[in-house]
Amino acid sequence: MDFQALLDGIDTDLRPELGREGQVASYIPALARVPVAQFGIALRTCAGEEAAAGDSAVPFSIQSVSKLFTLTLAIRLLGDALWERIHREPSGNPFNSLLQLESEQGVPRNPFINAGAIAVADRLLSTLGARAKDGLLEMLSGLAGEPIGFDAEVAASEGATGFRNIALANFMKSFGKLDNDAAAVLDLYFHQCALRMSCRQLARAAGYLCRDGAHPQGQAEPVLSERQTRRVNALMLTCGTYDAAGEFAYRIGLPCKSGVGGGIVAVVPDRLTLCVWSPAVDASGNSLLGTRALELFASRSGLSIF
Ligand code: GLU
Repeated sequence: MDFQALLDGIDTDLRPELGREGQVASYIPALARVPVAQFGIALRTCAGEEAAAGDSAVPFSIQSVSKLFTLTLAIRLLGDALWERIHREPSGNPFNSLLQLESEQGVPRNPFINAGAIAVADRLLSTLGARAKDGLLEMLSGLAGEPIGFDAEVAASEGATGFRNIALANFMKSFGKLDNDAAAVLDLYFHQCALRMSCRQLARAAGYLCRDGAHPQGQAEPVLSERQTRRVNALMLTCGTYDAAGEFAYRIGLPCKSGVGGGIVAVVPDRLTLCVWSPAVDASGNSLLGTRALELFASRSGLSIF
């Protein structure tokens, strides 16, 4: 398949739509300033072939796409013990909802909603302590094959205005479901959301997900086992795109993880990983043009897990 032609075609077809619909996430002030008229797409095959189009080298705030990598790090460190305090069911609720936490005694529905990612951050902090942020950067830089960093302005902006997340962490703490100080857990969570990466870097870094866990830069030690990788992909398909996961499975048919910064990572198991980015998001928090691009990719390439 000529992947470069495929991505060029998607870029050409979607570019006229830039800025027409949707809005950048404005509840995080630093994200509200991102110029809306941007679109990037990049992929990397299991064999290492790369293709990219549009603003694929522009770094953006990966936001909830980071939940994929903190989950991966936590599974590496803790194995199945991670699941003692996190369920694996779609929530069917907005990503920052407090509703289910009350009836389910502070145990989040899945690791990809905010409450679940805060619970994962708590476990990372218990395991790595003060090295948690550096540990995350090291893993990501190793996966991407180049240095990855935090956007300090976005992290500070989230810290100053993330009242929902502050409420979620304190609520879980009240149920005895966080081991660490809520403020320390939130500091890690806000930093992971503020990771800056481009579509190209994300398509590379997520490469283990299409290669049964093998390291995308060829390191001997796998990132995850084959079984763990299958399970992360299953969670992406069922829970990775907020309360639109059913619609994503229906329209695209690939495991995906999105973020309110407008990025979406998708996996075609045994074939490739793909990342799309466009900052305007829909009411669920998924990139509007990113979703359209993935739909075009799946229909034009015929690639889907179904
Ligand atoms: N930092 C965002 C928040 O916690 C992440 C949300 C997202 O990308 O889903 O609200």
